[in-house]
Amino acid sequence: MLFGPPGAGKGTQAARLSERLRVPAISTGDIFRANIAGGTELGRKVVAYTSRGALVPDELTDALVRDRLARPDAEAGFLLDGYPRNVAQVEALDAMLADAGTPLDAVVEITADPEAVVDRLLKRAAIERRVDDTEDVIRHRLDVYADQTAPIAKVYADRGLLVQVDGIGDLDEVTERLVRAISPALAH
Ligand code: ADP
Repeated sequence: MLFGPPGAGKGTQAARLSERLRVPAISTGDIFRANIAGGTELGRKVVAYTSRGALVPDELTDALVRDRLARPDAEAGFLLDGYPRNVAQVEALDAMLADAGTPLDAVVEITADPEAVVDRLLKRAAIERRVDDTEDVIRHRLDVYADQTAPIAKVYADRGLLVQVDGIGDLDEVTERLVRAISPALAH
């Protein structure tokens, strides 16, 4: 599982790690954006939350992840990107993984200085045109991260699963840091 503040490079690194580890990357943010773009019922339900940088309600998010983890390509392993994102979602995931008999091998927090990420996201906004990349919404996403998501680090640290990796620096170098950080956990 991979988490980190908006703009820390989580999505980019998840895609790279998924290739290296040969497991699917399951990104709740990407799945929501695809549903919004495709005009699905789920997309219509979540857009009011994602567009203002609020978390989508847990019932919707948990159900989505439960379905996704049940797909055949996740049987041999998976990388979760952006889920869980609060303590209640950690508990929901615990229940799903207990049912499936597949505990998490490692939890990685990509860290980044908040001012550096605001800058990165504003630059990205000009290229990708994500509707949640305006300065106000970015600041709100950072607040939501600090209030709701950052506390999950302690939960996983207490379980001995947490590794932290600095997300600032060259893309390839960050990927290498991530691979080094999780290798011991994947070796057994
Ligand atoms: P970022 O980490 O840069 O905010 P993501 O693509 O991970 O980007 O998430 C974009 C948006 O999708 C979030 O602001 C939130 O509205 C929604 N979202 C993604 N994952 C979750 C989740 N696990 N729980 C609730 N909402 C989520």
